[in-house]
Amino acid sequence: AKELGKNNYQFFDCDMIEVVTRKSLIEQLLRTALDKNEFAVHYQPQMAAATGDIRGFEALVRWDSPERGPISPVEFIPIAEEMGLIAYIDQWVMLQACRKNVEFQKRFGRPYLMSVNISALQLKQRYFAENVEAILKETQMKPEHLEIEITESVLIESLESSVAALWKLESLGVKIALDDFGTGYSSLSYLKVLPIHTLKIDKSFVQGMTSASAEKAITESIIDLVHKLGHGVVAEGVETEEQLALLKTWNCDFVQGYFFSKPVAEDQLINLISDTNNG
Ligand code: C2E
Ligand code: CA
Ligand code: CA
Ligand code: CA
Repeated sequence: AKELGKNNYQFFDCDMIEVVTRKSLIEQLLRTALDKNEFAVHYQPQMAAATGDIRGFEALVRWDSPERGPISPVEFIPIAEEMGLIAYIDQWVMLQACRKNVEFQKRFGRPYLMSVNISALQLKQRYFAENVEAILKETQMKPEHLEIEITESVLIESLESSVAALWKLESLGVKIALDDFGTGYSSLSYLKVLPIHTLKIDKSFVQGMTSASAEKAITESIIDLVHKLGHGVVAEGVETEEQLALLKTWNCDFVQGYFFSKPVAEDQLINLISDTNNG
């Protein structure tokens, strides 16, 4: 029995070691990834549901580690948050995205909206709004062309400091979107008290909209309610014609998902915009 116990323990230990080593390896690689220029930004278009016109793009970070290959943001962002590195990554992404957007505006002769994800931890930081302002100044991007995507968890964790930061951003003219709406502890009361311009319905709702599902009723009601409050709605994770048709029936403003395009590198994005512009 003693032997068996020991073996069991060792087996368990091996599994643990695997998880721990992967995490510490990622930590180690993350420390130098920014300096070594291993990150890239991919862009996914958001379209007007009714016309298919491009509203703008969501910037999504990509990490291709020379040692380990591509690592998903779902895996490395929480680790970067723990390590206190997320602010550097998010600001780097914002800088690239703003530069790209200004370039696109010159190239295509019309403005687009650039949506950037901001980690929950960042809004709490003292100079967050000032840093955003500095990036706008450096890139000459108009504040109203920048949208910051935040999740509700931020608001719950530190409502007071986040609220202050959000109002500072609002006073700059930056747009604010509430991301992943419907997951976690959604509270529609935020929409009343915070300067939120856009609400993004989480893809789990959009993808659950099969016949007579609860998701269908929920999605329709969210769109209706958000409109009554005077905000815009983006449905994310739109993959099928059927999903798009339903969202159009309910007058959803904007749609984003693989049905239109996956997030793509900037060179592919130029083709995508040219194709869309030429009908
Ligand atoms: P998110 O902000 O909810 O981003 C949407 C995710 O859904 C992206 O995954 C996108 O590639 C994916 N997606 C888009 N359309 C579809 C679709 O039609 N079907 C499906 N199944 N998925 C779709 P990605 O790029 O892997 O990013 C995952 C998460 O990582 C993001 O979720 C966001 O929370 C975080 N993230 C990504 N980039 C950044 C960043 O620069 N900063 C921060 N703080 N977080 C980021
Ligand atoms: Ca997002
Ligand atoms: Ca989302
Ligand atoms: Ca998400």
